[in-house]
Amino acid sequence: MLKGKTALVTGSTSGIGLGIAKALAAQGANIVMNGFGDVETPKAVIAALAVKVGYHGADMSKPDEIAAMMAYAAEQFGRVDILVNNAGIQHVARIENFPPERWDAIIAINLSSAFHATRLALPAMQAAGWGRIINVASVHGLVASAEKSAYVAAKHGVVGLTKVTALENATTGVTCNAICPGWVLTPLVQKQVDAKAAALGLSNEGAKKLLLGEKEPSMQFTTPEELGALAVFFCSPGGNNVRGVAWNMDGGWAAQ
Ligand code: NAD
Repeated sequence: MLKGKTALVTGSTSGIGLGIAKALAAQGANIVMNGFGDVETPKAVIAALAVKVGYHGADMSKPDEIAAMMAYAAEQFGRVDILVNNAGIQHVARIENFPPERWDAIIAINLSSAFHATRLALPAMQAAGWGRIINVASVHGLVASAEKSAYVAAKHGVVGLTKVTALENATTGVTCNAICPGWVLTPLVQKQVDAKAAALGLSNEGAKKLLLGEKEPSMQFTTPEELGALAVFFCSPGGNNVRGVAWNMDGGWAAQ
């Protein structure tokens, strides 16, 4: 379905970003990857799906590096047809104890990076008459939890940015939507499981159950594969007039 298109997925060396990259590649899209850590293993996973794979190591907290990544994608792949703004980090602390530099980093990586990548991707999408921008927000773009001030503020901002991007392009073939996962068992969440286990003297399984039980009625983690399937739907003809939604995949979290 996406043969000949190019998708740039930020933060795709791990977790949800890698899951979405795999789902888009399985539909034939070439993939530009980004993110830190081991790059060769995730790159090989995508290459095994017989699509062209690129990688740029831009730090998404730095606008000039984001510009360099977008220029690399345009040079190597011609155009970015699908932009998935996914890179993100977390820090958990009450506001009075929240380190200001963590606040700045979360706003830069989880929110401002989506603005920068979007502003740089839009002109080519508009010229082509087709484009998809998918922002990986969170259920925390819709509701709050204590001790996540920067994350909740950034993710609510991403949902707002999604709506404005959708509206400004509403008469074109360029759509923008947000995906709002509940708990997904990636390294980002495993750190929170570990912290709970250590603080309360629980096993890994016990801490996972507690985490799910606090928020997620289904008592199940959402998977990167499920999130990838939603991203594929947004890119399909069925998604042509889906504009500005914040679609939660959260096991009922926000329905409560
Ligand atoms: P993860 O830690 O597995 O992956 C994060 C990715 O972002 C990695 O590839 C990492 O290298 C990259 N990254 C981090 N900082 C970066 C930077 N400065 N520049 C470039 N890349 C950077 O986490 P994940 O759970 O897959 O999270 C992906 C997105 O999904 C995030 O935006 C997160 O907020 C969101 N999300 C996660 C959950 C969850 O439960 N895991 C729930 C809702 C939303």
